[in-house]
Amino acid sequence: MKTDQSQSLFARAQQLIPGGVNSPVRACKSVGCDPLFVKKAAGSKIQDVDGNEFLDFVCSWGPMILGHNHPAVVEAIEKTLRDGTSFGAPCPLEVELAELVINALPSVEKVRFVSSGTEATMSAIRLARGYTGRNVVVKFDGCYHGHADSFLVKAGSGVITLGIPGSPGVPADIVKNTISIPYNNPEILEKTLRDTKLDIACVIIEPVAGNMGVVAPNPGFLQTLRTLTTELGIVLIFDEVITGLRLALGGAQEYYGVMPDLTCLGKIIGGGLPVGAYGGTRELMDTISPVGPVYQAGTLSGNPLAMAAGAATMRQLAQPGFYAALEEKSARFAQGMTMLAEKYLPGQTTLNRVGSMMTAFFTSGPVVDFDSAMQADTARYGQHFRQMQEQGIWLAPSQFEALFISAAQSEGELATALEKTECSFKKLAK
Ligand SMILES: *Cc1c(COP(=O)(O)O)cnc(C)c1O
Repeated sequence: MKTDQSQSLFARAQQLIPGGVNSPVRACKSVGCDPLFVKKAAGSKIQDVDGNEFLDFVCSWGPMILGHNHPAVVEAIEKTLRDGTSFGAPCPLEVELAELVINALPSVEKVRFVSSGTEATMSAIRLARGYTGRNVVVKFDGCYHGHADSFLVKAGSGVITLGIPGSPGVPADIVKNTISIPYNNPEILEKTLRDTKLDIACVIIEPVAGNMGVVAPNPGFLQTLRTLTTELGIVLIFDEVITGLRLALGGAQEYYGVMPDLTCLGKIIGGGLPVGAYGGTRELMDTISPVGPVYQAGTLSGNPLAMAAGAATMRQLAQPGFYAALEEKSARFAQGMTMLAEKYLPGQTTLNRVGSMMTAFFTSGPVVDFDSAMQADTARYGQHFRQMQEQGIWLAPSQFEALFISAAQSEGELATALEKTECSFKKLAK
């Protein structure tokens, strides 16, 4: 595989941009190579600056559920573009997308648009704190909620890890108000939430974790969380930045039938443009300015181009049978992966899948939380990543990320991806 152009761009980028990348997940350090620079993408394929073509399983880390440059999305952006790119005043497309979101997400009665998932989650916890008058945020080890200070708490092991700054620059004074507990552990959850000394405003969770690799909630875990938070008057926030519009049009809340008080959205909702959103009950959302006292604002929030891309994407997702087809394709692909893993790497892999998001962990498993995810053999994943890239398959450059199936991938392409996986697993088994 020729990589001259990427190499020369990466050398230049490293002089100009920290690590040569504008988001650290794009660096390929953990898989032992350098990032490829992308020239363009269409449908299921992504092409680098050296002309190599790849079948894309990253989907821009989630957003591109329709594949790249879907004609309906491109058309909506082009049409909107001619009338201007930003007004700093309300525009009709905001109302349109708000209506689509509220109709789709069962627990959302009002929604506020922002420009990233990070903005959505940081605004949601401010709202929860403002509404309850309490300070502490409970999160789960291995869940990612964007890069705001409050969430960068070292995913510590053990009971009730009281905030230790996970990054220099995050004041201890801020993270002392964050408690991180293990995913899928109802006993520690209940003990933590019932501790009245803790002053808990909210619990935030990825209803299916996607940022320690894919980890599904154990049966009943989300229900327990809902029951406890309701009883104790704690705001329950579902961070559906990945799962919203991914598992179903109504996200994980529809998929599992558990309703949060607040929902955070991002990724797919922008159809490839920068959009985030948070929404919930009318009562909670009317605590936000200008109706209520909790302040949150944004110069480019509700940007017309981004709203147009989001609305066009949601209309495609709303077509009958969309999610059933995606589920069928994903299930067949996962079945193929499982068979290959059992044949070549017996007892050494665990496939976690919910809908069109999945992770093949190189560990005997089961993988149910951060600690079990950390058992995975990352060197082996690195080798797998490089072997797949050589064969034209674009995977996330980390063991602890999701593989996404998109509507643009054909059955034939997925079968080809399984053939390449077989080649890679054979080599790994040696
Ligand atoms: C990606 C992600 C975020 C952050 O969104 P950005 O748009 O990258 O700021 C928050 N929560 C979850 C679950 C995510 O996967």
